[in-house]
Amino acid sequence: MSSRQYVTEAALLEAPGRLGVDEVAFDGPDDGQVLVRMGAAGVCHTDKHLHDSDDGWGRPFPMLLGHEGAGIVEAVGAAVDGIEVGDHVAVGCRVPCGRCAQCRRGHTRICQSSSARMPSIERAADGQAVLSPMGIGLFARLVPVDARAAVVMERDIPMGVLGLLGCAVMTGVGAVLNTARVWPGARVAVIGCGGIGLSAVQGARAAHARQVIAVDLADRKLEWARKLGATDTVNAAEQDVVAAVRSLTGGVGVDFSFEAVGNPRCVEQCIEMLAYGGMATIVGKPQGESFFSVNLGGSTRGFFENTNTLTVTHGGDGLPAFDLPLYAQMHRQGRLDLDGLVTHEVSLSGLGEGFDRMESGDAIRTVVRFD
Ligand SMILES: [Zn+2]
Ligand SMILES: [Zn+2]
Repeated sequence: MSSRQYVTEAALLEAPGRLGVDEVAFDGPDDGQVLVRMGAAGVCHTDKHLHDSDDGWGRPFPMLLGHEGAGIVEAVGAAVDGIEVGDHVAVGCRVPCGRCAQCRRGHTRICQSSSARMPSIERAADGQAVLSPMGIGLFARLVPVDARAAVVMERDIPMGVLGLLGCAVMTGVGAVLNTARVWPGARVAVIGCGGIGLSAVQGARAAHARQVIAVDLADRKLEWARKLGATDTVNAAEQDVVAAVRSLTGGVGVDFSFEAVGNPRCVEQCIEMLAYGGMATIVGKPQGESFFSVNLGGSTRGFFENTNTLTVTHGGDGLPAFDLPLYAQMHRQGRLDLDGLVTHEVSLSGLGEGFDRMESGDAIRTVVRFD
């Protein structure tokens, strides 16, 4: 057995497509870490993509996934300021490095190498190192976390809500508020109505968009989109997406479009549906190399004639320390409905179910609960 100070239960990705609940061990927390007793952790598409990949993106197994979550601080490293035992924290996966060119010029929201420092965790049975691919791994009952990724939150907000803030909400709402800066009265379309897309829908509503058009292949998701702020919906399996969006906007197109799928054809649609001066934002991470084409000119709807903009957001250009308390407050004020994003709760051993459910289009966010 391990000689490390702590042993706890975790859901490990042991090989491509193979999950198991096992014991992990670690010491800690080190100077810059806090030890978090997990309350809830959201299941994100990035976790699923890693789970489904043939090679773990070239990284060694076993892996501890889970990069959005929340819990209660159980121990604090010697060099950590501003976090105390008993604090409720939400964990966000973006930590500006402070050293890259963007950070040096004060643009920490677009830090080039934003990542938490990976904790040293091993599998208790054989001492095998456990990798946390995004610098944090939250599908464990107790975890050491880079203190810079842990944000102290008010204690009256339920763990299930806090658990979504760090990726889905920060990315979707942030894409709207930080990256695109949707203005009051704008027309908005969102392609892809998972946890991130539906957070973008809600962000657009909170930004006082006049029209929010949600696009997806699943009617169930479009129904949820309406509940969460979409004024119109388009089922992409049944309709020509660009024509439908143009028709819903009286032929004008949208001022802002968001691609929350990671599919090059959807990026093209996002561009083709823009109004004059409109901006498309790519939110979904593409899987592998992919290409899309843009009609620059040749028609009144070409990218050039239309003075369009195409941009990309990583994690909603989020700064967890600022954004997570803000989004929690917006939730409390009823300007975001974060409860509405949690459709399923599972225990640690139900993580695989959460991944399966993503495939079916039958869930917005599945949250792992530890109680
Ligand atoms: Zn994520
Ligand atoms: Zn940086």
